[in-house]
Amino acid sequence: MSHSITELLKSGVIGDGGYLIELERRGYVDSGSGREKVGTGRGSGQFTPEVAVENPEALRELHREFLHAGANVLQALTFFGTREKLNRAGYGADTEKINFAAVKLAKEVAGDRALVAGSVSRTQLTEREGMGSLEKSRDHIAEQIRLLKEAGVDFLILETFFHLAEMKVALECAAKAGLPAVATMSFRPLITKCSDDHTPAECARVMTDLGAVAVGANCEQDPNRMLPLLRQMRGTTSLPLAAQPAAFRTTEQIHSFTKLPAFPDELETIQISRREFHEFGKLARNEGIGYAGGCCGCNAAYIKALAAGYTDEP
Ligand SMILES: [Zn+2]
Repeated sequence: MSHSITELLKSGVIGDGGYLIELERRGYVDSGSGREKVGTGRGSGQFTPEVAVENPEALRELHREFLHAGANVLQALTFFGTREKLNRAGYGADTEKINFAAVKLAKEVAGDRALVAGSVSRTQLTEREGMGSLEKSRDHIAEQIRLLKEAGVDFLILETFFHLAEMKVALECAAKAGLPAVATMSFRPLITKCSDDHTPAECARVMTDLGAVAVGANCEQDPNRMLPLLRQMRGTTSLPLAAQPAAFRTTEQIHSFTKLPAFPDELETIQISRREFHEFGKLARNEGIGYAGGCCGCNAAYIKALAAGYTDEP
């Protein structure tokens, strides 16, 4: 694709959906729930992207589905692909292989019809070892970004960071590598503050100052729950907003699906309908959200509904 992400953001970008939950449902990703309590945020071996080398056809097919549904960007499945996280899952030695394979697959499917983003997420070191581990995080994130750049991604999506401090590290690494970055924080258990106590508005301001090309939120909430925090962000940034909500219903008390008892083995009981993504698409367009996609729980049907809402098709 000849356009850059910055150009594409001017007219509005439809993102893709969630890969790991969908591929877990299809039997190709380990949720980790057979071994331990998942969702504590402490981090373990679950939900890592080795499917890119173990079952590439399954990943290729999901990319095709999102592209067919109307996505303008395919995210290479490199989420949780730092050596740190992969080490804990037993795949540390395959860090290069997994990142390269995931980008290659996404690029093959995208061709000249979509941009390819490298997905970079938290290392989980901050949750496990505290703020003293940030320099270790920097090494791991810098390494992954170097691999993604070598593999030829068009830009980066820094996503599902719980701590603004680690997001800052990631944005600094992206800038150093010279890759444009869409930066989205995840808020849990409530949308009012991230894990190191910054409001969505503060997060947006800091991510803007550190050179992101779009800022926003992803995962954890359904669209309606996420909208108020995006509106807060709107107040402190003039950048395009990015939103990739989850397709799971959250509660007044707990605004994040990974903190609900249904995660990860009973998610079907809190699945929202694709209709809500159609509505979200319309709202996103009306409120000037420049990058609208989905996260966990969104298969191609949700992205198709979102795209229809965003382009306001009848
Ligand atoms: Zn998600």
